[in-house]
Formats: sequence, C-alpha cells, structure tokens
Amino acid sequence: MSVLIVGAGPSGARLAIQLARAGVEVTLVDRLVGPHRHAYSSGALPLDAVRRLGLPDEAIAATWQGWQLHDPSGLVHQWWSAGDLGVVLDFGRLRSWLWEQARRHGVELIQDCRAALSSLTAEGASVRLKMRDGQTSLRSARWLIDATGARRDLLQQAGLRPNPEDPLLQGIGVEWLLQADDRQAAAWRDRISFFLGTAWIPHGYGWIFPMQGQRLKVGVCHLPPADRSTPGSLAGPLQRLIHRCGLSACPVLDRHGGPVSSSISRTEPLAAGALLAVGDAASSANLLGGEGIRHAMDSADQLADLLIAEGLWGDSTTMARRYQQQLKAQRSWRWLVSGRLARRTWWGLDNPRADRRLQRLIHGLSVSTEAPALSDLLFDYNFERYGFRLLPYLL
Ligand SMILES: Cc1cc2nc3c(=O)[nH]c(=O)nc-3n(C[C@H](O)[C@H](O)[C@H](O)COP(=O)(O)OP(=O)(O)OC[C@H]3O[C@@H](n4cnc5c(N)ncnc54)[C@H](O)[C@@H]3O)c2cc1C
Repeated sequence: MSVLIVGAGPSGARLAIQLARAGVEVTLVDRLVGPHRHAYSSGALPLDAVRRLGLPDEAIAATWQGWQLHDPSGLVHQWWSAGDLGVVLDFGRLRSWLWEQARRHGVELIQDCRAALSSLTAEGASVRLKMRDGQTSLRSARWLIDATGARRDLLQQAGLRPNPEDPLLQGIGVEWLLQADDRQAAAWRDRISFFLGTAWIPHGYGWIFPMQGQRLKVGVCHLPPADRSTPGSLAGPLQRLIHRCGLSACPVLDRHGGPVSSSISRTEPLAAGALLAVGDAASSANLLGGEGIRHAMDSADQLADLLIAEGLWGDSTTMARRYQQQLKAQRSWRWLVSGRLARRTWWGLDNPRADRRLQRLIHGLSVSTEAPALSDLLFDYNFERYGFRLLPYLL
C-alpha cells in the first residue's frame, strides 16, 4: 500500500520519514534540484521546538537571546533573556538533513521533478511527473499527499477551494542573504529584529535575523487584504529597509522568497478521495509571526499518526472525516485569536492611526514584559496576561 507525497519541505519530508519508519512504502517528489536550492525560509524557531522535533545542530545557523522591535516611529525596543530563546535555522541544511533521513528510512526520493494531478478517486490517485529534461511518467498510489506549501498545487488541481467564510490570509515574503562584516553585524547579533509600521512596509513587516559567519537574513513580508493588490515587487521596501539599517554596502549572497497563506479556522476542504493536504497546504502556518516550520512538522506527525492508526486500507470518506475532526479538535481559542490578530494587524496596517495603535501596543509591551514572556506571547499565543490591551485589535 503506497503513499505518494508531493513536496519535500518540512511537512512532506517529515511525513515521509514517519510513514517509512512504520513500514509504509513512500515516494517523495520535489521540483527542487537539491535541498539547498531556494532556501526561502528565514527559519526562526523557539528553542523548545528544536528539542521537541529533534532537529540536528547542523541545521542551526545561530541562536538568539533577545527580541528587537523597530516601531513605526523608528524607535528601537529590546527584550533580553539570560539564556537562549530560539534559533535561526539554515533552511537548506534542514531540508538536506530531512532528505537524508528520508532516504535512510527507505523513502524513494525523486527530485528535480514537478508533479501534477492526473486522476483522483476514492480508491487512489495518480500524478504526472515531469522531469526538467521534459521526460514525463505516471505514478499511482493509494494515498496522495499535497505538501506543496502555500501553492497548494494538488488541492487546486483537484478543484478544492478555500471556504469563503474562512478565507485565506495570504501574502508574499522576500528575503536577501547579506554578507556583513563584524561591525555591520554587531547590531543584529544574538537577537531577532522586526520592523513594524507603514514607514517600513504597509500591510506587513520586515525582519533581520543573524546567521553564522556574520551573515544576515533581511526580509519583508506583505499581507494585504484580499481586495488590495500586492505591489509588483517587494524589492523597493526591502532595499529601503537595508538602506535605513546601514547595510547597503553588504554583498548580496542570495535572493529568495515565496508565498505564505493560511485560513484562520482551517475549515477549508483538506481532503478529497485519496488526496490529503499537510503543512502550509493545510493552513498550518501561523501568520501573526509568519511562522510555519514547526507547525508544518507537527501537522505531518499528526497526519502520519492518523494514516497509521486508520490503516492505509481505510476508506477515503472515513479518513477525510477523521482528518477534518482531528484538525477541528486542535483548533484552540489561542490559535483563533492569533489568526484574528494577524488579520487585523496586517490588513489594517496602512494608515497613521494603525501606526499609532501598534506603537502604543509595542510601548506597553516594552514597559511591562520580559523577553521570555514575549516569546510566550508570540510563539505560544499566551494572550491572557495582555487581555485588554489586545482588545482594540480584535474588535
Ligand atoms: C520569506 C519567508 C520567510 C519565512 N520565515 C519563517 C520563519 O522564520 N520561521 C518559520 O517557522 N517559518 C517561516 N516561514 C514559513 C515556513 O517556511 C513554512 O511554513 C514551511 O516551510 C512550510 O513547510 P511545508 O513543507 O508545508 O511547505 P514548503 O516548505 O513550502 O515545501 C513545499 C515543497 O513543495 C515543492 N513543490 C511545490 N509544488 C510542487 C510540485 N507541483 N511538484 C513537486 N514539488 C512541488 C516545493 O519545491 C517545496 O520544496 C517563512 C516563509 C517565507 C515565505
């Protein structure tokens, strides 16, 4: 009984490993030539997720002990902890480790190959695989998994659309990898820095994350409301941020980016016949902090448990029902609040009033919050202690 997973990012590769460990025959397909190509993700993660997911040291590019927020007026706020709060992953190395683990567990990994849905029934599915040299072939499996990230290639090809009552919050992020020197990197080391306010970028945020060897990941993400178009290119806001931070002289080692999207309640159809979605394709990312790696891997673990528990011979209708039930059971009020906060914040951030509100919020956090508590808020969605201060964002 075979499973074919399209997309070897954190969710697809993790799912492949878990299933192969349980003795399932798995094929994993990715259009990338190699794991280091298009290493688009900034890779900021809280420390406990690194331990819980068993991520290796080789994938860690830097650790950080502080938060640094540049508010709409340009004021800098810092929160420091005595110990490490999180890591910045080298996304290419993370993928490389996952691919190697997958192979070691017997997964058939086909890279440099684009997959498109060919047929889908309750009993199985087939995809057309197209190699870069133009060669095509057809592959069938009992279960087909869409792990193509925010592109949701297979869900789209199967005609599954987001729920209009729970639309996708979507955007695009671009990031440049800069080679700084010791002096240039000093103001960004040991911390993750975010830039909030319309003067930095409307409907979004910017960031600078440290990497090994004085490298810096500098990026911007733009998440406009559905009726507002994205600017043709985010290079303008990104270059302005680089300039304002005094980093214009740094050589650019790599340019990458990609779409981000998630519904708030995850009520869109994520299964049809033999097709199931996982990771970003299943709206696992949290767009308050543009953070999805650990959620994509958790999503893979949960789907693996379900597929193994149900037995791969289970019928598609029961599997789809159980999967949607599983997702519903995980929908905590914290998750919903953080999704609503994300939508409220990014959609509304295009005017001086929104800037002032954000400034007040950051100032409030600045005087009353310690670094670990800020991590609790942004990574564990621990909103209770901020109660009333967040209300203007939700109402
Ligand atoms: C600019 C940016 C910065 C980010 N920063 C962070 C961060 O700091 N921390 C964090 O936790 N998250 C971050 N994220 C989000 C995070 O990267 C994603 O949530 C995570 O990678 C999702 O994993 P995934 O496996 O579901 O999808 P992806 O990582 O998107 O993997 C999908 C894979 O599918 C492949 N694929 C797509 N279509 C096809 C096809 N038709 N055929 C074959 N292969 C296909 C792609 O090549 C890709 O390898 C960021 C995202 C962006 C865009």
